[in-house]
Amino acid sequence: MQESKPIAKKRLASQQNRSVENKISCPHRKKCGGCQLQNLSYERQLSFKQVKVIKLLGRYHHVCEIIGMKNPYHYRNKVQAAFGERQGQIISGVYQSSTHNIVPVDSCMIEDQKADEIIVTIRKLLKSFKLRAFNDVSMKGFLRHVLIKRGFSSGEIMVVLVTAVSDFPKQSQFVNALIGRHPEITTIVQNINNKRTSLVLGEQSRVLYGSGYIEEDLCEMRFRISPKAFYQINPVQTEVLYKKAIEYADLTGNETVLDAYCGTGTIGIFASKNAKKVTGVELNPDAISDAEINAGLNNVANIEFVCADAGKFMVEAANFGAEYDVVIMDPPRAGASLEFLRSLVTLAPKKVVYISCNPETQARDLSFLTRKGYKVRKIQPVDMFPHTEHVETVVLLSRQETSKK
Ligand code: SAH
Repeated sequence: MQESKPIAKKRLASQQNRSVENKISCPHRKKCGGCQLQNLSYERQLSFKQVKVIKLLGRYHHVCEIIGMKNPYHYRNKVQAAFGERQGQIISGVYQSSTHNIVPVDSCMIEDQKADEIIVTIRKLLKSFKLRAFNDVSMKGFLRHVLIKRGFSSGEIMVVLVTAVSDFPKQSQFVNALIGRHPEITTIVQNINNKRTSLVLGEQSRVLYGSGYIEEDLCEMRFRISPKAFYQINPVQTEVLYKKAIEYADLTGNETVLDAYCGTGTIGIFASKNAKKVTGVELNPDAISDAEINAGLNNVANIEFVCADAGKFMVEAANFGAEYDVVIMDPPRAGASLEFLRSLVTLAPKKVVYISCNPETQARDLSFLTRKGYKVRKIQPVDMFPHTEHVETVVLLSRQETSKK
């Protein structure tokens, strides 16, 4: 593949049909802190991210031009609001960065607009049903958070009401009132979180309306999304990211593939069409049960899923003498564990496609792999999180010498 030249701001803007000076002006920017780059035009944000990736990964290979969005607004399909009370009024919004103070937010430039509207409706309904918002000092009150997930192409919407107690006064009237105002909601789940914790979701959930999950179409396939399982938050760019990862894997139909940190199995299922066999490994049991259902939804028979710590799985696979031609890995921000990387080297797949949402830990992991016989062949940044400082990267590595396999 022809590598693209380093970024050229104005050319990129005109090619991708974007204006160069399209800054957003958000009234919450100082307190919220979520969109760290919003004082920059979108083109400058892309340049900033390109430079960041070059600084961290450029020593391994040329970095392709970052793939940005045509419309970098309202891209988040997962929206979360914290609920509280101030001067007797219920408020909902986001936590001010590094604090537990709620910044009231009714609409956000990067969140799905329908989700924001539903959150405002829930706030109004609380008042009319005389339900209180939770107070995290006194640990009293009812509603702590609302989490909304929306399937952009399926149109399905899931509302998760995170409550401090399981007793839900006038539950069916509340649910009917919410559905009455937003008939587009396809399912409502109550999640109970009675702990003093900064985690949004508690252990227990019960379905109040609909199926308890949504489905979404991605890369011409259908995926189930349940309240707790990880699902990429920017569906438009997820397609770009996955297609790049599959392009880098360059499968012919004969390969055995490992999809490590597989979440709900999306990448592995996508890869399975051109592979002999795929194994997905993931720590979260909810994600694994979604993954198994997803394989069935897409009639994929050559994939299996294992619920395990990816590092421990790799150690066992290496001891057992498993053989993988391609390992696709997509770890969380902390990157891969040393145990994972050591066993990866022992397993010696011909190719590793490393997807990362944190180029700092990816740089650390590439430093290990490049000292152990791998060479970086391609680096592609993708802008999954416009207006924030975060950037996603896909890196292709292959073994320097092919004698080992
Ligand atoms: N590839 C998936 C998920 C990527 S997010 C997708 O594109 O949707 C990272 C995933 O790693 C999450 O699902 C998280 O639950 C999982 N994870 C985190 N730590 C893990 C570990 N030690 N072992 C296995 N999976 C882990």
